[in-house]
Amino acid sequence: MPEVETIVRDLREAVVGRRLRETEVVLPAAVRYPAVDEFTSLLTDRVFLGSHRRAKYILLPLSGDLLLAIHFALWGTLALVPTGQPRLPETLILWHLDQYQDLRLIDKLGYARAAVGPPDELAHQLDLNSLGPEALDPDFDVTVLTRQLARRRGVLKSVLLNQRILAGLGNRDADESMWLAGIDPRRSAASLTAEELIRLQAAIVRVLHEGIDLRGTQRDLFGVKGQAVHRRNIFEKARQPCPRCSTPITYLRIGGRNTYYCPSCQK
Ligand SMILES: [Zn+2]
Repeated sequence: MPEVETIVRDLREAVVGRRLRETEVVLPAAVRYPAVDEFTSLLTDRVFLGSHRRAKYILLPLSGDLLLAIHFALWGTLALVPTGQPRLPETLILWHLDQYQDLRLIDKLGYARAAVGPPDELAHQLDLNSLGPEALDPDFDVTVLTRQLARRRGVLKSVLLNQRILAGLGNRDADESMWLAGIDPRRSAASLTAEELIRLQAAIVRVLHEGIDLRGTQRDLFGVKGQAVHRRNIFEKARQPCPRCSTPITYLRIGGRNTYYCPSCQK
């Protein structure tokens, strides 16, 4: 999530208020909604009015009562570059802006997606209204976390990644939060004690804020790499010593996602 939030803030600074002149779709599959022709024609000659995030969606309100939604999937990103700059082979969509600049959707895996439409229609198409509360919202507290995890018999790791239960946690965010809170990712979500819920809520907020302060792990809108990768305790550190107790970090897959945890100090 820190990667998405970083780009959202960069867009607010560098793109909001500017004009989108024309759209060029390189990979038709990258347009999730509506059809490609309608997508490009709807996006002609609009002004960016705002930039915000809902779960892992970047939402950009446009003039003409439209909303542009972008989802990075695993490796997607946006770059703001001069229109004349050569295109990377992994470029999926180019938005030609004013001042000879492009906003480019880039993804080496090709899974990133964009959609546009009137806000209500788009919310329906992307099922935005079924998303859970935002972990980065000032209202997210232990009461909210307790309510969202109550009666969830699923494995804690999978429940934390379910955006309908809690919006905004990525794979790394979830693993680092559970390590910080000292909770085993294989536990049932409903089994957490009141004290564990307090620790987990505080850990989630801290991990997300640290990630954002360090501007994530990937490149920002201007191509500058974030520093959050240097602040990882256990994520992608299999067999390395746990920073808290020196036990080698264990790797396993939970619900199809890579998971890292300390078998000794995460109970
Ligand atoms: Zn440990």
